Amino acid sequence: MTLGILKEGPSENRVAISPDTVPALLKLGIEKVLVEKGAGERAGMPDAAYQEAGAEIVSADDVFAKSDIVVKIHRLSEDQLGRLRKGQILIGQFNPLWEPSLVEPLHKAGVTAFSLDLLPRTTRAQAMDVLSSMATVAGYKAVLLAANHLPRFFPMFMTAAGTIKPAKVLIIGAGVAGLQAIATARRLGAVVEAFDVRTAAKEEVLSLGAKFVEVEGAVESAAAGGYAVEQTEEFKKRQAEAVHEHSKNADVIICTAQIPGRRAPLIVHQHTVEAMQPGSVIVDLAASTGGNCAVTKDGQTIVHKGVTVIGNSNLPATLPYHASAMYSKNMFNFLKLLVDKGEIKLNFEDDIIAATCISHEGQVVSERLRQVMAG
Ligand code: NAD
Repeated sequence: MTLGILKEGPSENRVAISPDTVPALLKLGIEKVLVEKGAGERAGMPDAAYQEAGAEIVSADDVFAKSDIVVKIHRLSEDQLGRLRKGQILIGQFNPLWEPSLVEPLHKAGVTAFSLDLLPRTTRAQAMDVLSSMATVAGYKAVLLAANHLPRFFPMFMTAAGTIKPAKVLIIGAGVAGLQAIATARRLGAVVEAFDVRTAAKEEVLSLGAKFVEVEGAVESAAAGGYAVEQTEEFKKRQAEAVHEHSKNADVIICTAQIPGRRAPLIVHQHTVEAMQPGSVIVDLAASTGGNCAVTKDGQTIVHKGVTVIGNSNLPATLPYHASAMYSKNMFNFLKLLVDKGEIKLNFEDDIIAATCISHEGQVVSERLRQVMAG
């Protein structure tokens, strides 16, 4: 059985499997690991490192023609989709809840495809959880980016040239990315406040040394599997007012609030941005799903009335070495469910396999995606 690793497009520096995972794949009984030439180069993982680990460097054509399993991060281009073979297995992080239309071409190609962003948030799935790994990278990098753009220090300083007050950071959404952003901002010496709609987030925020800003009346649902749900108009209004008050004193806002499969909640309104001090920075990690901030432009850094607004939702690409290493570990742990003694075994009774499968014999297996597609 052969596994192939494809190179990502020009805007992505990561690679789906790093060289140090190759020996473990071979041990799993996979006979050959094929790597598209230059796949890991931008992540600091050269072809020679893959060869030393026991993989073969080949062309993209060979990856498509010879692999039983193809691994990737982002969705395939139209040209790549056309090169898939019937019965091939494709694994990546394709974000189908946000873009369900990507499923149809996979059905047409006759492939069995798994999207790792659909993993259930269970203890057993934790080792494969690419969303958590990449959110960790994004939360960390968001704070570094903000610190870089801010015309102020993060820590407090007492110097002969005067006392410098610590920066104030407001984190919106205290999930995996938000908690990592809190920890990173605290390490840099900032004073941190955070909001979330899930009550469970409060304790985690406090344990990281940040203040939790309470807004009463948030809706929670046990059926949402630990995720947030859409809020009432009344709550949104109250939350916007609270965010407005706290933003006036914040030097940095890091937005991470998301609702799976929906537009990100709009939390920082234009008048709130305009009430911030000139030189303040907003990093909006929800930019690709519409943004938490009204003036965010996806994929761009803009200055709105003196406030820098960074709309980069693919920060893991800016820390490609470790982001690839983490993605690779997650991918390997997922592959262990599919490969037994070198043979592919698809057990759709397994909740993780069923939850992540977006294409098999022309059908969507994932219940969660089926519900979203049914509207
Ligand atoms: P996410 O990326 O979907 O959202 C980020 C955060 O934004 C969440 O904390 C969410 O509550 C918050 N949010 C959404 N709407 C909001 C609003 N209007 N105002 C303020 N905040 C809002 O979330 P995530 O980081 O992927 O984590 C989702 C859940 O999964 C969390 O409960 C997390 O602890 C849990 N989790 C479990 C596991 C596991 O057990 N395997 C792994 C990772 C995460």
